[in-house]
Amino acid sequence: MPLPRTRETGLRHRLAELRGPEVPAKALDARALAALAANPGCKRRAILDGAGVDKAALADALGSPSAFGQSQFALTRGNAFESRVKADGGAELLRLVHEKLDRKAEPPSDAEVPDLTAIGPQGRTARTALALRDATAAGCWTLLDHPMLALEVAGSPAFLEPDAVVVHPDGGWTVVEIKSFPMLDGSADPAKVGAAARQAAVYVLALEEVAARLAHDGGPSPRVRHHVLLVCPKDFSNLATASAVDIRKQRAVTARQLARLTRVQDIADALPEGTCFSPDRPADELTEAVEAVPATYAPECLSACELAFHCRDRSRTDGAVTSLGRSVRAELGGLTTVEDVLAAARGELGDPDDPAVAALRRAAELRAEALGQGVAACR
Ligand code: SF4
Repeated sequence: MPLPRTRETGLRHRLAELRGPEVPAKALDARALAALAANPGCKRRAILDGAGVDKAALADALGSPSAFGQSQFALTRGNAFESRVKADGGAELLRLVHEKLDRKAEPPSDAEVPDLTAIGPQGRTARTALALRDATAAGCWTLLDHPMLALEVAGSPAFLEPDAVVVHPDGGWTVVEIKSFPMLDGSADPAKVGAAARQAAVYVLALEEVAARLAHDGGPSPRVRHHVLLVCPKDFSNLATASAVDIRKQRAVTARQLARLTRVQDIADALPEGTCFSPDRPADELTEAVEAVPATYAPECLSACELAFHCRDRSRTDGAVTSLGRSVRAELGGLTTVEDVLAAARGELGDPDDPAVAALRRAAELRAEALGQGVAACR
């Protein structure tokens, strides 16, 4: 007789069905989580990420390949730089942490670099928590190279792998992000620094959960620092330079947005039986499956989500005002399509006391005046 399924195994089974038989789950990384948190209203992204669907392969199969992601060349260059920064037991990296974040502490020498190997993400997460506990109790500089952290997102665990976490002698924990974009005269491209800060904020939230569990279990009470260390190549050279980045704002925003995500279980329950996002399905079936989940497209998706071209086409076909940007969308109140907006401007739709409708009519009058036409010419 089959054993009854627990809620958790039931959800895992349902997500595997949505991903497709034999299709391995794509792990959620902090970059994806930060992007998910940036668009918390999008159920489509939430279920695809929650089910571990490879969105780039799905976009290809839908006929709208994404132009999103890092090139192989950038990945190779980034990995080579990271290895250089972590050489010699992370001596240079620890020197930068000391110089930028903890000058009052003893300079790091002979820092510990614990072995974090274990089987599977759960095993690596447990090994990381033990290493953090031991290093905090020992009160000496320790470098955790590619630790594994877990964070519950929309009711499902996501496993995250920061470049490094450093334990300070005072028991503080610092997240280190190593990037391959250059820092010129001490400053880097603000957009790239912002993306790195949002990613680091996800790691900080996951570390805070580890710290809370340690304190709850009677272990040490570590402090997760809210300044992270961003390490980049100095002025296009191979040398490393670093900057302390205050991520308090990104941490607060990300925590709030992740809490707003609809539970993956609820989205999965609302989907028709047989829905499957496996990229080997015919394009029309996949389109139907993807369209079964509501999405909230915004131009920001173009730099954050592999499905952006597909969702943009759909949004434009539907005449949705979201494709004009979130700020425009917010100004238009209850008017959700371009057709409705034009009808409101012509005086054919909407309550004249509605500020959005009144502003549209005034704009249409001004436009007509300028062009010497009637308002009905507004198309
Ligand atoms: S591109 Fe589509 S699926 Fe991705 S976040 Fe935007 S609306 Fe959601």
